[in-house]
Amino acid sequence: MKISVIGAGIGGLSVACLLASKGHHVSVFEKNSRVGGKMNLIEAEGFRFDTGPSLLTMPHVLNKLFQVCGTKLEDHLELIPLDPLCRYFYKDGTVFDSYADRAKSMEEISTFSDSESKAYSEFLDHSSKLYEKTADAFIFNPLFDLNDLKELDLLSFFGIDAFTNVSKRVDSYFKSEYLRKFFKRFTTYNGSNPWVAPATLNVIPHVELDQGGYYVKGGLYKIAETLFWLAGSLGVEFQFNAEVQRIETNDHTVTGIHSNDEFYPADLVVSNSDSTETILHLLPDSVISGSKKTKQSNIEPSCSGFVLLLGLNNKYEELSHHNIFFSGDYEQEFNQIFSNKVMPDDPTIYVANTSHTDPKHAPKEGSNLFVLINAPYLSDSYNWKKEAEQYELKVITELEKRGLNDLRDHIVFKERITPVDFYDKYRSNKGSIYGTSSNSRMSAFLRPRNKSREIDGLYFVGGSTHPGGGIPLVVQSAFNALELIERYEFTD
Ligand SMILES: Cc1cc2nc3c(=O)[nH]c(=O)nc-3n(C[C@H](O)[C@H](O)[C@H](O)COP(=O)(O)OP(=O)(O)OC[C@H]3O[C@@H](n4cnc5c(N)ncnc54)[C@H](O)[C@@H]3O)c2cc1C
Repeated sequence: MKISVIGAGIGGLSVACLLASKGHHVSVFEKNSRVGGKMNLIEAEGFRFDTGPSLLTMPHVLNKLFQVCGTKLEDHLELIPLDPLCRYFYKDGTVFDSYADRAKSMEEISTFSDSESKAYSEFLDHSSKLYEKTADAFIFNPLFDLNDLKELDLLSFFGIDAFTNVSKRVDSYFKSEYLRKFFKRFTTYNGSNPWVAPATLNVIPHVELDQGGYYVKGGLYKIAETLFWLAGSLGVEFQFNAEVQRIETNDHTVTGIHSNDEFYPADLVVSNSDSTETILHLLPDSVISGSKKTKQSNIEPSCSGFVLLLGLNNKYEELSHHNIFFSGDYEQEFNQIFSNKVMPDDPTIYVANTSHTDPKHAPKEGSNLFVLINAPYLSDSYNWKKEAEQYELKVITELEKRGLNDLRDHIVFKERITPVDFYDKYRSNKGSIYGTSSNSRMSAFLRPRNKSREIDGLYFVGGSTHPGGGIPLVVQSAFNALELIERYEFTD
């Protein structure tokens, strides 16, 4: 079959590899001049920065992708388990290192909150049970038709804690603000608000703290580069600077795509472009009902991000590979981001310092800091053109107050990425960085499935589709699309 893939993000690359490994003729059309989408990089003045993901979880999903494509992940990528996983800095000066080794984390916790180290382990047991109940039902399942729903065990469905929110469940385990903030932060891994998102999302701590968090030697962009190589080796063809303007259909069946004023016929089209963008802007009005468009535009995007890439001529020894500087009032921060849709007055600041693990990422004696603050998705409530510079200064000042002394004097390279860039560069709906949010009990069912119900031959992959955002889930979306293609295109 001749299959066109729109977009060479992780979703597009993964599905292209899978389809080519099954013998299909696959062409990928990418708007930008290189692969990766939001997983991208900037190299300048001796510094190297990943501009998107910095942490890989659930590597088994990526492993499976390589295996299905006839090779082994370890022959191409070196995954480095991080130890510690992350260093947390609280406003009162308390510092906490988390580890994939539970006993080690508990020992750390006992130094500042003795009574809660046991609760830490109990909460992780709870998180691990959630994973057992939800992974096969909600992640490794296309959830497309009645057969898929049969996989859902309704009895265990009631055990997935969907009737309260993340924050309430965390508070029921912990009294100290240290552990409350620590566990609520995991909800931001898919861009959601812990005060609103169903407590089912407390599954995420298990994924990082029990299964482990990984860095990829050379930087996370190596994943995109390797998938690009793998796709090429399987015969996938790529066109760059090739934005797709329209998906062509005939009688509610795809016939091909239009890019750069040319028509490319195809038997199937897989869109890795954000699903909202695809449904609202790439499909002819005649095939998508007004109510479908309204439903799609009402799906709440995940949060976005404000990123500073700082090349420094020094190193801060207090920084580990991943670092979090928590804000004072965490609830107020999420209210500002998700309800008021403005940047928080007192932000939690994430700093990835990959030169800690990969010294080649900065000149000798220097370091490369990737600074990320959760930001609202784009709306009229915040004007990035007007505010970005001031906000940057605020973040740098806060980091100086938190111990990165004279930070501004050590910056020799700087680049800023705002939510506007995530839209302009990658067409992410309203600049969202993890696809759609999970700020509702029904989110798992609202996200578009990996096959269109309206148009035959149209499939979806990526963070704005089922099962959601983040590298492993995006790769899984490609497996889901493949399963549905095999189910619907190759059976009578
Ligand atoms: C700052 C940041 C930090 C993150 N941190 C992490 C992390 O630590 N761990 C983690 O797992 N995840 C993280 N994520 C999320 C992760 O990066 C995304 O979930 C994932 O990369 C999304 O991949 P995708 O394939 O869905 O979409 P995208 O990466 O958006 O790819 C879509 C591609 O389609 C192209 N495209 C769009 N429209 C068209 C069109 N009409 N024609 C042609 N091409 C088109 C775009 O240019 C793009 O290349 C982070 C993201 C960001 C931005």
